[in-house]
Amino acid sequence: MNPRSQAWPSTAADRDRWVVGLRNARPVHDPARYQRLIIEDERAADDSIAQVATVFLTGRECPWRCVICDLWQGTTTEDTPAGALPAQLAAALGSITARGAAVTQIKLYNAGSFFDPRAVPERDYGALAALLDGFERVIVESHPALIDRRLDVWRDALRRHDSGRSSPTALEVAVGLETAHPAALERLNKRMTTGDFRAAAARLRHSGVALRVFLLISPPFISPEQQDEWLARSIDEALSSGAGVISLIPTRAGNGAMDLLAAEGVFHPPRLADVERSYDAALSLAAGRARVLVDLWDLERLEDCTHCFERRRARLLAMNLGQQVLPHASCGRCGGAAHT
Ligand code: SF4
Ligand SMILES: [Zn+2]
Repeated sequence: MNPRSQAWPSTAADRDRWVVGLRNARPVHDPARYQRLIIEDERAADDSIAQVATVFLTGRECPWRCVICDLWQGTTTEDTPAGALPAQLAAALGSITARGAAVTQIKLYNAGSFFDPRAVPERDYGALAALLDGFERVIVESHPALIDRRLDVWRDALRRHDSGRSSPTALEVAVGLETAHPAALERLNKRMTTGDFRAAAARLRHSGVALRVFLLISPPFISPEQQDEWLARSIDEALSSGAGVISLIPTRAGNGAMDLLAAEGVFHPPRLADVERSYDAALSLAAGRARVLVDLWDLERLEDCTHCFERRRARLLAMNLGQQVLPHASCGRCGGAAHT
């Protein structure tokens, strides 16, 4: 692999400074308000279709400085004040109720790690767990390095506040492996290895907690010719670590660092056809072993043909729900199925 980037620093500390130095200004956020709420259907472990809410919480920025990350744009620079997250969650739950949605699963995504005590104060676990009583599944996210004692504290808080009104609340933790390509993973500046990922997965298994894995479509530092092979190897890594869900995220520019890497030819932003080809392959590879989902949030960014885009999005959504590869939409304007 030839990074070709003249700007690319060689040490992790220099990379942190490089990533931060390329950022735009951070919007100011009120820690009393959550960022965004999405309610969508998702294929559940028992093959039913669950209504799942994702609450994007507002809190302190993640301590890492990954090259790919733009989540800091929705964070604060100060520690999350105690009480802020329960207030945000209560507001989100009110909004879910007002929409009349029969939500059974909830994702609490805090643009970092749920087990980072400066982002999610441990003293708020009880109040958060009490609000979550009645959900079948709670999904939080974490960097592998922070999957530690607090995992069990949080799991136990959920159990303690489980009133038994429905089936016991299952806990799932989403971990960004991103790619199993060792050199690319190192360059992403995530400061983790595939060994760290495996250790975190084993820790989750030991605590009886389910694993969801985020993998990138078209990450930087891997040539276009090698992307398919490394996605397949990343799927293998996730499966052998016990992932129940693999979520594919199209890599995007827009955070400064990724725009520069794209300009220098070490990042090739995925086109919609790359997303389709990657998802087709991933779904086939993991069939019967894990659910594979492709992230369709903000897919409009990848629209390259107004004539077929909605049909192509609908196909991906149908595959998310059905877990089967479907025929490609044909298009008289751009070639449609010839995309692949
Ligand atoms: S660990 Fe996750 S949230 Fe933190 S900087 Fe990296 S990608 Fe962003
Ligand atoms: Zn088209």
